[in-house]
Amino acid sequence: VKHTAMDPGTVIPEILKLVENSAHTSGIEITTRIEENAPSFMGDPGRFQQVMLNLVNNAIHAVTSRHGAKGGAIEIRAAQTRNDEGRTMVDIQVKDNGCGIAPAHMDKIFSPFFTTKAVGRGTGLGLSVCFGIIESFGGTMSVDSRLDQGTVFSIQLPAYENQS
Ligand code: ADP
Ligand code: MG
Repeated sequence: VKHTAMDPGTVIPEILKLVENSAHTSGIEITTRIEENAPSFMGDPGRFQQVMLNLVNNAIHAVTSRHGAKGGAIEIRAAQTRNDEGRTMVDIQVKDNGCGIAPAHMDKIFSPFFTTKAVGRGTGLGLSVCFGIIESFGGTMSVDSRLDQGTVFSIQLPAYENQS
């Protein structure tokens, strides 16, 4: 694994191109808002792609199960923030207006093999893999959800401070 600096304004749109077609076919609108000051961060680009694709594919599933073929919306954002220690971070969010997560499931979703999907439809590994990858980049991942309203996954990663 080779860690390099990634610029959210470059890598996120590239990754989203990979899901554009399937989202469009499913009648889902994906909007992106990358703030000008969203800092770069360090990590392995292939693994970061895997994280984003897992989150977006989960979001596609959630909005389709709530809305069917029309009305699903997914929003991807990146912005600068600070963590509790005052460190500059990039905050990356994947937000959907899908089925949401039952309160009783909230503390289980990052566990390996936890899935609410039909047999053969989900392995329950996606989020646990995402969590491990973000930890390996020195970041954190959290979730906020309301049943029948939607879900937001948030990733915070240390800003890459370059020398120049
Ligand atoms: P899988 O997608 O194979 O089920 P994941 O680890 O990716 O495994 O997700 C685990 C579970 O978390 C899902 O089965 C679903 O219940 C819940 N989940 C994940 N993302 C979302 C989302 N965006 N909206 C609603 N529920 C979600
Ligand atoms: Mg999944």
